[in-house]
Amino acid sequence: MTTLRIAGGQVLRPDMTVERADVLIDQDDGTILAVGDVADADETLDASDGLVIPGLVNAHCHAAMTLLRGYADDKPLDSWLREDVWPVEAALTPEDVRAGTELGMLEMIKSGTTGFADMYFEVDEVAEAVEEAGLRARIGHGVVTIGKDEEVAREDFETSLAIAEEFDGAADGRITTAVMPHSLTTVGEEYLDDYISRTRDLGVPLHYHANETRDEVAPIVEERGKRPLEYAREKGMTGESDFVAHGVHVNTTEIDLLAETGTGVIHCPASNMKLASGMAPVQAMLDAGVTVGLGTDGAASNNDLDMFGEMRDAAMLGKLAANDASAVAAESVVEMATRGSATALGFDSGRIEEGANADLAVIDLSSAHLVPHHDLVSHLAYAARGSDVKHTICDGTVLMADREPLTLDEKSVTENAEKRAKELAERATE
Ligand SMILES: [Zn+2]
Repeated sequence: MTTLRIAGGQVLRPDMTVERADVLIDQDDGTILAVGDVADADETLDASDGLVIPGLVNAHCHAAMTLLRGYADDKPLDSWLREDVWPVEAALTPEDVRAGTELGMLEMIKSGTTGFADMYFEVDEVAEAVEEAGLRARIGHGVVTIGKDEEVAREDFETSLAIAEEFDGAADGRITTAVMPHSLTTVGEEYLDDYISRTRDLGVPLHYHANETRDEVAPIVEERGKRPLEYAREKGMTGESDFVAHGVHVNTTEIDLLAETGTGVIHCPASNMKLASGMAPVQAMLDAGVTVGLGTDGAASNNDLDMFGEMRDAAMLGKLAANDASAVAAESVVEMATRGSATALGFDSGRIEEGANADLAVIDLSSAHLVPHHDLVSHLAYAARGSDVKHTICDGTVLMADREPLTLDEKSVTENAEKRAKELAERATE
């Protein structure tokens, strides 16, 4: 057994208390062996002056969209997708997806994110990139059937199932999968009828966008006389392992439905604000017992993958939405970004405890904006930034030490992404 000791830091425990302790990791099986005073280990990583936290989990993301960062801003969801995003995505090559995913993961590692859910295409490239970067991910192929011939639409769904089957459990179990219909309005009912039961036979979760904008809710209510998530339940798309992105415009019936079925909701506050989609009733969902995780969505609607920014946005927006300054408190957003997201994604991560996955980050507490140290949970939610992360560890492997990424080459990843993004934009406007 090879062991790693995260030494001398303050540690955020699952009950949100902070104590000074070492964390001992079994690097062979990638789990936490002990928290407390531990004996010497094969390797030691210094965490004095630091706060050891569970690695953050970005539970809804399209990592390769980092190539579109700053490409098109300041438009509502529908026209932004149709006029800008989808045309450019149609010009993406597998190599572009690889480059964008690597850029996204570099950003995640540098900001303390150790796990994520990714909905995209060219997923074999995504899987290879995840394997190389050392992160934990639930990945899948996003299916859109509207505007497509039946044969092409069916091929798209078949791809999503095949990808889910092929890569589940890859990279020593760090990679898991889901079948990912894009949303309840961009995938036709006839396809849901055929493919959801096949997803269940495969035994993988479903992940889709739901109730993101009013424009997405209204047509379902008008056409079917029921709410989108009632429709989703009728189609067999809700359950303990399933998770939906956004859940902005959910009513009380849908909140109860989410809680009853155990379906996770991934809150994406920055994306919801930027696209003016609305304010999710996060505190009401938490009060009802819904599993709520946190995600950045794609970098084109955020525009970064920094989960610290997302925690702050979630707290701020949650208070506005509830018209209550005590709503969506610091502890709640830290919980959402760690255990909430991990639970929604089915990862045994998001908590620093014996037996859990050794997915951790160490925050440097010495910067001016993190002094004094009255309340470190408050700092995580309101004052810390991704650039405060000193070390990142996933599955017991050190992915970044003293801000130097070890699994991805920072220079070549950023240069390649810059070059490919430029060529992509030129191709898309030809
Ligand atoms: Zn999304």
